[in-house]
Formats: sequence, structure tokens, C-alpha cells
Amino acid sequence: MKYVRVKTDKGARYGILKKGFIQLMENTPFDSSPILIDEAIRSEDAVLLPPAPFSKAVCIGLNYRDHAIEFGLPIPESPVVFLKPSTAAAAPESAIIYPSMCHRLDYEAELAVVIRKKAKNVSMEDALSYVLGYTIANDVTARDLQPKNGQWTIAKGFDTFMPLGPYISDEVDGSSLMITSRVNGETKQMSNTSNLIFSIPYLVSYLSHVMTLLPGDVISTGTPGGISGMQPGDRVEIEIEGLGILANTIISEH
Ligand code: MG
Repeated sequence: MKYVRVKTDKGARYGILKKGFIQLMENTPFDSSPILIDEAIRSEDAVLLPPAPFSKAVCIGLNYRDHAIEFGLPIPESPVVFLKPSTAAAAPESAIIYPSMCHRLDYEAELAVVIRKKAKNVSMEDALSYVLGYTIANDVTARDLQPKNGQWTIAKGFDTFMPLGPYISDEVDGSSLMITSRVNGETKQMSNTSNLIFSIPYLVSYLSHVMTLLPGDVISTGTPGGISGMQPGDRVEIEIEGLGILANTIISEH
């Protein structure tokens, strides 16, 4: 199933993406099973929202070998973890705001894991049963602010710094997916999630031993090598095999 969250007259609704249209749901994909209602909207008329209304996005730094090497950093022995606030969420095709206090704004193409049910102290073996599916995240980063702070909260926590979407799919195997980013059509990053240092079951289990993961929470699994800057007016696209394309444009704060 491919789940989308769309804007309607009655507020945000979930739906199932089919060929050319979206079949609306009465409930959410985090409930036991989808209840469909007799209402559909054409895909081209739909205004998509971030598909996972996360209470927290738990993000992993340096989880691809090539990205660690790019920064001249050793391969980490335990995951580098930071949080993005829920206010950072941005919809597909929405604008990423280039903050006036930032002088270098980067994209980071990432596979995002969406939690289906409350997870606390889960084993690696059971971890995937807590996962609804996968979507695409852009871990937008004010790169010049990153080394200025002891932690990454400022550099990565601005409003609109977590575009997510376009849909959540439970039809793919997250352990081996091609991941690509493009700016204005030019390919910038290309890798495969099989290059992750810390696997998805490991991350779900590890994090659930620290904090309770709630339905809709997101684990963003880190970015491959090839990061670089973006300018106002640029269009950034992230494509992951089986998960579509997450596209956003950059606008200046002023
Ligand atoms: Mg990242």
C-alpha cells in the first residue's frame, strides 16, 4: 500500500494512492487496518501533506561509509543521533526557507522509516513489525552553523528543514534501495541503502531502548556522500527506488 496524507475541506485525511487517484480513508494507517470511504480525489488535484505527522524525527548522522569519508571522520562505533522538531516538517512541493542567519544551505537525501505502533525496548528480530513503511526525507542543514554549535539542533532544526514524502510505502525492502538527489536536474548523490553502517532493525531496536517511539514518528537513516549547497530558486529532488520523488524549492527568508 502507498499511503498519502492530503489536505481536504475537513482537514488532513489519509488516503491510499492508486493509479491516477487517491482513495480516502476514514482512519489512519497507524490503526489496525485501513477503512476506506467512498470518496476519491484525482492525484493531480491533491495537495499533499507530510505523510508522517511525527512527534519527533530521530535522525542518524554519518550512517553511510562514503559520507563519513567525505568529512574525514572515522566510521562511528555507535550511531550519531539528533532530533528534529515537529515544526521542521515540510510537505512535498512546498518551499524550504533559506534562513537569513545561514550562509550555506545543504540538502541531505535520506530514507525515512515510519513507526506504525508504540515501540519501547523492542528486539532487532521484532523491530520491523513496528514499522509501517518507508518514505523520503530531506535532512536540510545550515552547514555553516553546524560546527559553531556543540550540537546540531540549530543547524538542522529550522522550520521547513524536514521535507517528507510524497507517500509512505509498505511495499519495499528498506535494506536495498537506490537513493539519488538532484539539484536543478543535476545528480548530486547516488548510493544504495545497502551501504548503511547501522541497519534499520538495529536503529529501531537501539532507539526504542532510549525513547518510546510513537505512531508516526520518523527515523531518518542518514545521507550518502555528495552533499553540497543550494540557493534560493533551486529545485531539489530526492528519489528513492519504489518511493517516488520528493521535490521542493528553496526560497529566501526575506
Ligand atoms: Mg542527515
